[in-house]
Amino acid sequence: MTLKKHLLERIAQDGPMSVADYTTECMLHPTHGYYTTRDPLGVKGDFVTAPEISQMFGELIGLALAQSWQDQGHPEHFVLAELGPGRGTLMADILRATARVPGFHDAAEVVLFEASPTLRAIQAKTLKGHEPRWIGSVADLPEAPLYLVANEFFDALPVRQFVRDGNGWRERLIGSEDGALTWGLGPQAEQVALKDRLNDTKDGDLVELCAAAIPIITVIAGRIGTHGGGGVIVDYGDWHSQGDTFQAVQAHEHCDPLAMPGKADLTAHVDFEPLALATRAAGCAHSRLTSQGVFLERLGITARAQALATQLDGPKHDELVAAHRRLTHPEEMGNLFKVLGLYPSPSSPPPGLEP
Ligand code: SAH
Repeated sequence: MTLKKHLLERIAQDGPMSVADYTTECMLHPTHGYYTTRDPLGVKGDFVTAPEISQMFGELIGLALAQSWQDQGHPEHFVLAELGPGRGTLMADILRATARVPGFHDAAEVVLFEASPTLRAIQAKTLKGHEPRWIGSVADLPEAPLYLVANEFFDALPVRQFVRDGNGWRERLIGSEDGALTWGLGPQAEQVALKDRLNDTKDGDLVELCAAAIPIITVIAGRIGTHGGGGVIVDYGDWHSQGDTFQAVQAHEHCDPLAMPGKADLTAHVDFEPLALATRAAGCAHSRLTSQGVFLERLGITARAQALATQLDGPKHDELVAAHRRLTHPEEMGNLFKVLGLYPSPSSPPPGLEP
């Protein structure tokens, strides 16, 4: 049975489904899910992420985390964790860059949170020799100082969409018509989680709610707030998002999210304000939301690029220049991608970020 057929049967049985339920089926269905069945990353895949563009991304984040570890008195055991590690490239770059930081590797326990068995197998290969451990739930993160990175993880979590209707909301739902998946709206209802959004929206406006992110950020913030550490969360989005950002990408092109269930990557822009609120509620401090370009410039990406450039010529040199531009330039990833740092008050945010 195809995933589309399975979805149509589920809709026939249970009625129209939320965007979040649709996303979960498309991404994580055990046999047809997008992430469960493939490695979507890279030039030949569907999308390219910052660590796949250049080693500089992971190196600079690794050194920032190591600096923060030293600033907090270099605890002799800590968890070095990543959410949604993809091919393991970012963690490999972090580990390579920090290999010469005295004591850092000996103190680190590498822990990964990954839903896809296909990607877990690739991560095991990439990180051979570092003995990573996979956890099935973020709640399984050990009670210890936590240094954590998440790049393009939160955008992969399912969102629900709501359209303002008077003082209530109608949920955007996916139903079926003549054997095709179609968009519709549910009945008007109050939504407790969207109470504050009545202040900044008008009739017809669409807002998104990523409920799955909250328990995850709460655990992370709890560990960092209690035991120390630092978090670097990088994703596209903004402080307070509004409008439809649910999108499908296949082979580097945008496509209709309902057209090829399980065969395209489904994401939504990350709304950072709820992540920040949950961080504070869990007793942890967070940095100002900072654009990726500014963050990487502050960490010295230009000097690092210049150092690497001296060893390269021809197409390799041009690739490096292009990678630097792509990661930092406001018209490329520099502005769209944002960074939120987590840290225990009263210590300082991870380097590159401001309180
Ligand atoms: N961080 C990597 C990969 C980003 S793609 C990079 O920057 O290259 C998103 C990653 O999150 C993939 O590894 C995907 O399998 C994982 N992922 C998506 N949804 C998840 C979920 N609900 N739980 C755990 N991992 C998930």
